[in-house]
Amino acid sequence: PSLPLPLQVCFIGRSNVGKSSLIRALFSLAPEVEVRVSKTPGHTKKMNFFKVGKYFTLVDMPGYGYRAPQDFVEMVEAYLQERHNLKRTFLLVDGVVGLQKTDHIAVEMLEEFGIPYVMVLTKIDRASRGLLLKNVLEIQEFVKENTQGCFPQLFLVSSVEFSGVHLLRCFVAHVTGNLPTVEA
Ligand code: GDP
Repeated sequence: PSLPLPLQVCFIGRSNVGKSSLIRALFSLAPEVEVRVSKTPGHTKKMNFFKVGKYFTLVDMPGYGYRAPQDFVEMVEAYLQERHNLKRTFLLVDGVVGLQKTDHIAVEMLEEFGIPYVMVLTKIDRASRGLLLKNVLEIQEFVKENTQGCFPQLFLVSSVEFSGVHLLRCFVAHVTGNLPTVEA
């Protein structure tokens, strides 16, 4: 029998959404996971694969931006169609600006391919409580009305203050089968 494929999770989002910062925060205590945060935002053009020990591989997708969806769809579509071992996709949404048109396009693509995904609201330390509430309610409404494959629980994170990072880390461990329930 062939070796089982390593499980994967993938992170996608608009350029500058805080994807590199979040990946770095998630693996801050796993020094073998080396994440470069680009100095020139919007210039991550290729997919990065971070191997997290023998446990799983984190796939960092190119950020979609001004020229999305063409660039993004072309680069990512093939991967998403082949994703036999992709356990979950994390779609990052900027907590300050909320859901944008390009996010809707990413959602449509994930829905079309039937890929299970989770939304993560980033930079929550930068949004006022009122703005954060508005953006959260908007996303919850959108998810309820327009999605099938989106996990109903939105994750709120700040990579600067590390809020929500621990919970997200546990969730990643869970979906990759690294948080087994104790057997009696
Ligand atoms: P990427 O293009 O999605 O990889 O985004 P980066 O991780 O490079 O972040 C884009 C910008 O947002 C940088 O200036 C980061 O310092 C900033 N940033 C990222 N995450 C946070 C956060 O949680 N809080 C705040 N205040 N700034 C953040």
